[in-house]
Amino acid sequence: MQRFAGLPETGLMDAVTMATMRKPRCSLPDVLGAAGLVRRRRRYALRGSIWKTRTLTWRVRSFPQSSQLSQETVRTLMSYALSAWGVESGLVFQEVGSQDKEPDILIDFARAYHQDSYPFDGMGGTLAHAFFPGEHPISGDTHFDDEETWTLGSKDGEGTDLFAVAVHEFGHALGLGHSSAPNSIMRPFYQGPVGDPDKYRLSQDDRDGLQQLYGKAPQTPYDKPTRKPLAPPPQPPVMPPDRPSSPVPDRCEGNFDAIANIRGETFFFKGPWFWRLQPSGQLVSPRPARLHRFWEGLPTQVKAVQAAYARHRDGRILLFSGPQFWVFQDRQLEGAARPLTELGLPPGEEVDAVFWWPLNGKTYLIRGQQYWRYDEAAARPDPGYPRDLSLWEGAPPAPDDVTVSNTGDTYFFKGAHYWRFPKGSVKTAPDSPQPMGPTWLDCPAPSSDPGLPRPRKPSPSSGPCDCQCEINHAAGRRPPPLPLLPLLLLPLLPLLAGGVVSS
Ligand SMILES: [Zn+2]
Ligand SMILES: [Zn+2]
Repeated sequence: MQRFAGLPETGLMDAVTMATMRKPRCSLPDVLGAAGLVRRRRRYALRGSIWKTRTLTWRVRSFPQSSQLSQETVRTLMSYALSAWGVESGLVFQEVGSQDKEPDILIDFARAYHQDSYPFDGMGGTLAHAFFPGEHPISGDTHFDDEETWTLGSKDGEGTDLFAVAVHEFGHALGLGHSSAPNSIMRPFYQGPVGDPDKYRLSQDDRDGLQQLYGKAPQTPYDKPTRKPLAPPPQPPVMPPDRPSSPVPDRCEGNFDAIANIRGETFFFKGPWFWRLQPSGQLVSPRPARLHRFWEGLPTQVKAVQAAYARHRDGRILLFSGPQFWVFQDRQLEGAARPLTELGLPPGEEVDAVFWWPLNGKTYLIRGQQYWRYDEAAARPDPGYPRDLSLWEGAPPAPDDVTVSNTGDTYFFKGAHYWRFPKGSVKTAPDSPQPMGPTWLDCPAPSSDPGLPRPRKPSPSSGPCDCQCEINHAAGRRPPPLPLLPLLLLPLLPLLAGGVVSS
């Protein structure tokens, strides 16, 4: 298996690949469908796989390297987080030592690549992930990104509460998916600390979800003091200011440098940052990841990627900047920078947009009002190019980028809008252009055009999204006070519902 941040293994989103991916690893439709939200009362989602035994073993194999939390505190927090699920279901969690047989739930704090197919992404973004129950050795295992600042109950917005994230991840490790219920610990985004670990109790929605899988606790009333008291929490660490870097841009403003469909996910590049949208239509995180952290070997002097696309014939990913491009196998740079002249462009020329068009298998390179069509097999541009971009009827000149969605439609992006070309067509759909934000980026509709009809969701592929069992940081701001939560949820819900409209 190739490793690429949880993306499918080849450029082809074929059924075999998707089916394989479902097996030993997490497979989790992130959110309930619109129909589910309407028809079903319950919000929790179940995965279908459960543990067959009622006593589960666990062990913390590696600890955070730089957290102020001691190993003892980490173990205690894990124990409490598991107990939160145990008291409601009667499941028993037993800590084992390193000499014992491999536990069901093996816990690690890890950085970047760590021997599964889901490398972590440094501070922010993905915080942790867990594998669903099953027969595979990795089933139930739970990994925390060691580059987060793990804290306990920090209220000042610094750091990430380890207990809250652990409860969430263990929910996955027991077979629960994400929930849209307002108070659920299984909401897909981190909501901040949840209070005293020894007093914490799961929300009704989470209890319902759990008991659906494992039944109720036989006779253990919740208030039975089965948990030992927690050592006094350590003082929240005093954090140095975040590393100096360019301010995080607002994705809702659009104006991306490049947008690409890479193995079913849509990548939005802007300056030294990028966002990822899963095939389900959900952002991996509202916080962008760092360009150079992810694309290993991309020279630091590359401050922005002007165009990007996944090469169909070998699955390589090409990033363009200035008169050069770089070729990546998965996240790793392959070789040196190459000149655009290699693709048949005149010396000194740059590109605004590059995409591969499934209809004819050709690669298109756009600059301003003209474009070249490149033949990968012949390794040269087709004769008679460049041509005028107006051949793509209705396309904006000098698009920020162009990409083909999993459904086969071609999307031109420019500024904060997109133009859709239905599959196989070189003429824009009549409803183009549309604002990008609500459809692609979990942003509110621009107030200037409130009456716009809701466009179809572009990305969902034929199947539900796979492999999202992660919990992510909410948009980099501190958790809101509780009474506000239902309000803040509102902007999220249309996106959740929209994710399945066309699937
Ligand atoms: Zn992992
Ligand atoms: Zn999750």
